[in-house]
Amino acid sequence: MNFPRLQEKLEILADAAKYDVSCSSSGGNRKNKKGGLGDSHATGICHSYTEDGRCVSLLKILLTNHCIYDCAYCVSRKSNDIKRAAFTVEEVVDLTINFYRRNYIEGLFLSSGIFKDAETTMERLVRVAKKLRKEHNFNGYIHLKSIPGASDEIMKEAGLYADRLSINLEIPTTRGLKLLAPEKSHDQMIKPMGFIKNELNLYKEEKKIFKNVPKFAPAGQSTQMIVGATDETDLKIIKVADHFYQNFKLKRVYYSGYVPMLEDKRLPSIDSQVPMLRENRLYQADWLMRFYGFKADEILEKSNPFLDLEVDPKLAWALRNREQFPVNINTATKEMILRVPGIGRKSMYKILTARNFQKLNLEHLRKMGVATNRAKYFVEFESQNIFNKYIDDFNFRKIILQGMKSKFQNPFSEQLTLF
Ligand code: SF4
Repeated sequence: MNFPRLQEKLEILADAAKYDVSCSSSGGNRKNKKGGLGDSHATGICHSYTEDGRCVSLLKILLTNHCIYDCAYCVSRKSNDIKRAAFTVEEVVDLTINFYRRNYIEGLFLSSGIFKDAETTMERLVRVAKKLRKEHNFNGYIHLKSIPGASDEIMKEAGLYADRLSINLEIPTTRGLKLLAPEKSHDQMIKPMGFIKNELNLYKEEKKIFKNVPKFAPAGQSTQMIVGATDETDLKIIKVADHFYQNFKLKRVYYSGYVPMLEDKRLPSIDSQVPMLRENRLYQADWLMRFYGFKADEILEKSNPFLDLEVDPKLAWALRNREQFPVNINTATKEMILRVPGIGRKSMYKILTARNFQKLNLEHLRKMGVATNRAKYFVEFESQNIFNKYIDDFNFRKIILQGMKSKFQNPFSEQLTLF
């Protein structure tokens, strides 16, 4: 084996893969078998996340950065003058097994440039997964990037070996995609997403009847959108995300702040900042939609369609809807308790249980782990809460901000490298 060349390929293809952030493994549940290697857990194997949301414990590479497409936002686009490389199927399999055995990684995230056509590329990705599962009994996590345009047959095979499949929307709107990647269309991406959704449903139904139905992409499917390469508003982005959660059974939508690397008049200038804080706010808004019962239209309004960078979206909503507060912690519905800034889902459940036994006060909330520096203004109890008086204060926002310290002091921190 030519190790210097393999090392060079690894550097090139791991570097090219770092712009894809859709690598969380949450939801996978694949147990080891006798004579097998590794397993993946339902809680996810990406235990360690960098502060900007990237996970670091997968072997995250491209099969190749050769590509016949010329997407303006992509470092691997064909017109970009960069070093190119391609792994063989065997090389990826060997790397995965060796890295796994050395405890460097807990799974594989494999994507690829489209080197000939979608079908050939997808077929090569599936061969990697198949070889790992069938020949090496590998039960670790595998996330395969699906190549839009590949046939249903090959997508079906991919789902039999991979834990998660993902198809990146890349640019949230059709107009933006047409501008930056005219050779692609959202229809090409939606078709395989629909196919995977149907297969997931089918698997669920068959599982009710037959015990030994082969698993199909047990960690589901996800997608990624690039934020800031085009001029979509945050409201538009979260509405697109919501649409895909509702209609395509997505496990996750990932938001990737655009990293300016290429001179192109269609893109933000090369010296513009990576919108890391905006990316973080989008994740928070996404969280509100998935776990807190917020609708996209509640998080943002048409008249002000960008997320507030100074405060998180839940606090921003509370500041716009002060008439909904204070919320009586001892009598409010769980939906309303969840809307109180500083109260998370775990605390909400603790509150519901505890109030069965006693009347709660602010001190009880603090002991339950509620962020009372925010929550204290928005809650009331049977006893007087002196902080309620600030809600109607003209300077209420300022008062709250003074009591909080954002961990995102620098809104434009640099992305961290993975390798
Ligand atoms: S098809 Fe994928 S790899 Fe190729 S240029 Fe477009 S985004 Fe990059």
